[in-house]
Amino acid sequence: MSSGIQRVMCEEDIIGQKASIVYESMLKHLVTFLPLPIGRCNFIETVTNVSCHASGPFEVHLSSRGTGTVIHWMCSKGHKVWVCNSQPTLKYGMHAGDFMMATNILLSGNNYYKVAHLFNYMNMGFLGKDTFFKIQDTYCIGAIKNVWEEKRSAAIQRVKNKDGIVILADGRMDSPGYCAQYCSYTAMENDSKKIISVVTIDKRQTSRNSVIMEKEAFVRTMDKLLGEVKIAEICTDAHTQIASVMR
Ligand SMILES: [Zn+2]
Repeated sequence: MSSGIQRVMCEEDIIGQKASIVYESMLKHLVTFLPLPIGRCNFIETVTNVSCHASGPFEVHLSSRGTGTVIHWMCSKGHKVWVCNSQPTLKYGMHAGDFMMATNILLSGNNYYKVAHLFNYMNMGFLGKDTFFKIQDTYCIGAIKNVWEEKRSAAIQRVKNKDGIVILADGRMDSPGYCAQYCSYTAMENDSKKIISVVTIDKRQTSRNSVIMEKEAFVRTMDKLLGEVKIAEICTDAHTQIASVMR
């Protein structure tokens, strides 16, 4: 089978490329009139070594794969004559759109299940959760951590010689406080409005007591920041455990 598949060879092949929602009916309408670069089926029977040579017009089949559509042209004997993809593909055949979707769900602060739900309502193909988490673990987490560490240390560098900085801090639970699993505690420097610390506490780090997670996160935040900058003031919400730690 021949193909018109476009491979992603470098960053520019996918980053910043325009994309749009395409309806399958429109795609089918378009490709039906498309002349293929080959006029005959070049399938060779493995046992007999006989070529098929069936000539066109070939039947067009569309199939959904992840966020993309794969188009096959089939000869009268059912051989795949030509294949084309609605998206460029990466090494090992991963759709560029699936890869970009997975990374951008993270980068835009979204949630896989919510976006998958939206796509389901739109009757649009979407990447499976295993693919999403594989991409997240393999390509995204490490890169995001590196960028965050770079940004954080640049923000700390800018304020580390200031005499007394003002910190704005608050914690956020992944679900209501009494049954939360995680608490992420964020601290912002008031003048620059730059985030200078994010600490995430897992309930298992506080003996499965979710109520004390925010206090624990606050303590860890302060332990780290006090070694890096001179703090004059901390503003948080009215949290009684944190107020007592401060006293
Ligand atoms: Zn054939």
